[in-house]
Amino acid sequence: MDSTFDGARVRRVEGREWWLWGYAIAVTLVLTFGIFSLTFPSFHLPTDEWYTLNLKEWVRGLAALVLLFDIYTVYQHLQLQRIRRQLVEREQLFHLITENAADMIAVIDRQGNRIYNSPAYEKMLGYAAEELAATSSIEQVHPDDRVRVLEAAAKAYLTGCGERLEYRIRHKDGSWRVLESTASAIPDENGEAQGLVIVNRDITDRKRAEALLEQHAFYDGLTNLPNRALFLDRLQRAIAVSLRHSDFRFAVLFIDIDEFKVVNDSLGHGAGDDLLTQVARRLTACLRNSDTISRPGGDEFAVLAEELHDPSDAIRLSDRIQQRLAVPFNVGDHEIVISASIGIVFGSRTIAEASDVLRDAEIAMYRAKRAGKARYEVFDSAMQADAVKRLQLETDLRKGLELDEFRVYYQPLVSLQSGEIVGFEALSRWQRPEGMVMPGEFIKVADEIGLTLPINRQLLREACEQVCRWQALVSGNLPLSISTNITAKQFAQPDLAAQTGEILRQSGIDPHRVHLEITENIAMADAERSAVVLSDLKALGVRLSIDDFGTGYSSLSRLRQFPVDILKIDRAFIAGMDQDEETREIVKIVVMLAHSLGLEVVAEGIERQEQLTALKHLGCELGQGYLFSRPADAASIERLLTARAPSRLTRGTWAGA
Ligand code: C2E
Ligand code: MG
Ligand code: MG
Repeated sequence: MDSTFDGARVRRVEGREWWLWGYAIAVTLVLTFGIFSLTFPSFHLPTDEWYTLNLKEWVRGLAALVLLFDIYTVYQHLQLQRIRRQLVEREQLFHLITENAADMIAVIDRQGNRIYNSPAYEKMLGYAAEELAATSSIEQVHPDDRVRVLEAAAKAYLTGCGERLEYRIRHKDGSWRVLESTASAIPDENGEAQGLVIVNRDITDRKRAEALLEQHAFYDGLTNLPNRALFLDRLQRAIAVSLRHSDFRFAVLFIDIDEFKVVNDSLGHGAGDDLLTQVARRLTACLRNSDTISRPGGDEFAVLAEELHDPSDAIRLSDRIQQRLAVPFNVGDHEIVISASIGIVFGSRTIAEASDVLRDAEIAMYRAKRAGKARYEVFDSAMQADAVKRLQLETDLRKGLELDEFRVYYQPLVSLQSGEIVGFEALSRWQRPEGMVMPGEFIKVADEIGLTLPINRQLLREACEQVCRWQALVSGNLPLSISTNITAKQFAQPDLAAQTGEILRQSGIDPHRVHLEITENIAMADAERSAVVLSDLKALGVRLSIDDFGTGYSSLSRLRQFPVDILKIDRAFIAGMDQDEETREIVKIVVMLAHSLGLEVVAEGIERQEQLTALKHLGCELGQGYLFSRPADAASIERLLTARAPSRLTRGTWAGA
């Protein structure tokens, strides 16, 4: 509704009306005076014809003027009536709109007194119009928002139209509602603002939905902790502060729960979630208010510790976290003991990207994991170089598997008494275009990323088939055995026995000829489980070896709980035995004890004749080593087998890899 325009029109028509009435009065006065003047005694009515005619003309002219004036008056009156009707209609329309509008419409005067409040106020805020009329317009506004509201009103008075404003207002029930409001000034006839029309919309629900969305976008749904995005944002701010103020120190701690998967797998995801929530609570309790804790994902937590006095503060915090987490958790009916690996990175003026800082903390955490878990590691730049190298290796390994670059090499297992080949150990080689890569350089990483599973399945299949073919070449001799190594990852597979059994069946090999080697460290990591897994494997009919014996911390008597058949003495002992009396003594005792437990003994890494002689003397039955043969590819082994019948090896006569 254009009120300025209407006001001007009404004023124009009213002006004309005044002029009209003034004119009417003037005409009437002239007319009255004219008629009245005829009665003056000095006035003699002329009797001649000229005068009579003149008077008639004068009266006629006057009558015409009056008629014209009447017509004009009627016209102006109709105009006025039309405008007044229009105004009434518009007022009705205004009422109809304001009374029915979902928005709350208010009119206030310059003093802030309420002049009008639409019925929506009662619907939205619970106040009747009379209640509102008795109060000032600012009274129900939230105290913290009052200054903003008054500023917006002042601006609306100044410019005619205020900016969009959000503020809180009290509902009659005491709760706060959020309103979105715009104000427009009502000008008087001089164009001066005499009041405001304010249109308010209740956006409480929308605000709530927005807050919920924000919560979802920036907070973790399970623990309510900031998620990765929000953490990075806060970290970025800390970096910015540290770049401005050299004395501002911060650190990031990347925390990963050790073996969390075990909880999830054994007790279910519900229990896992429960544990994570409890961990989040404990971690929060360890921190100061100025610190930020986040759950970037899974079983990982990140802490941004600000305002540190000294780097050692971060290390103390990490110790505190370890201690708090070491107290057992109650999840359902279970008591769970956990530990965490923590990577620490100190804020430095050289790293400007938050994601880089978090990545470095994660790298340090992985280092802590690899160093044996339940500990912390502080990031240094060498770690990053290592991480980059490792990442490259992981990528290359995956590519290598795709391109079928893994080869099987065989190292003969020799009977020390007869010198005959009695079997082989199958060992992996990675044939890259740049050259051959030895297992020491890739097996550990391949295992950590799960690649040894396909590599070793393939190796076992190929080795079993190969040894069956070779058996024909040495007919008449003892059945050739084939040994393969089992990694930690393989050993953790619940279907290891089933998968191995399947491969053995497919290759048609007699399972008794297959030796599976596990290191004592793998076997002892979880002795109870190992006993079960080893029994399952044993049930396939295979023979089990303890590899690299002597490098772990277990004793022979502890190994007795496992159904093993063969003990392989680590090559470090063999290497030292011909020079060092003590080592020779150890080997002697190991051989004796192994025999007393009914185990066969294999000496690894026999390189010199003296070692062979000494081992023979100790009654060690089997051996492996460069003295007999280096590991070699199938074709080389085949040549060896056909050239020598029976396959007797006394010295390594050709070089393998
Ligand atoms: P291992 O099972 O103890 O294998 C014996 C290692 O000793 C082999 O190293 C072999 O080349 C080496 N060796 C044999 N005789 C001598 C000797 O006279 N002197 C010296 N210095 N070394 C000798 P390789 O092939 O480099 O393998 C190293 C380790 O990598 C193996 O130790 C085994 O634990 C692992 N490995 C190799 N291939 C595979 C595989 O296919 N699967 C799994 N799971 N592990 C593998
Ligand atoms: Mg081995
Ligand atoms: Mg070994």
